[in-house]
Amino acid sequence: MRAKSSELSPHCKKVLDLLSKSSKPMSAYDILDQLRQSGIKAPPTVYRALETLMERGMVHRIESLNSFVACHSEHKEHNAKFAVCRNCGNATEIHDPRLTTFINNLAKKLDFHIEREMLELSGLCADCNHEHAH
Ligand SMILES: [Zn+2]
Ligand SMILES: [Zn+2]
Repeated sequence: MRAKSSELSPHCKKVLDLLSKSSKPMSAYDILDQLRQSGIKAPPTVYRALETLMERGMVHRIESLNSFVACHSEHKEHNAKFAVCRNCGNATEIHDPRLTTFINNLAKKLDFHIEREMLELSGLCADCNHEHAH
């Protein structure tokens, strides 16, 4: 856990905790379902917590799944990229500085100002891919 998590509100901590323990991306409603017992009952509470956690780079949104994952990277500023398995739902965060450099150079060439960067690969993870081969 990062030091910064100590400044988080109790709601944020609960959401982050839940996502950190989950091996798979969770939708806002999955999160709400799991946290109902601990007193979080309204969707806006979950959305606000997710918003804060995303701003701090502790949680990422996977657009193609409309779901959220805890960031397990120690990189401070980064745009998360994901390889998402369509079979088991596992999402692997991809970190390759060459990719970031390449995209930034491309944008410069196009004179394009990037506001949001989403890169998601959809397919089969190693486990599922090998299962299918048998
Ligand atoms: Zn990350
Ligand atoms: Zn898989």
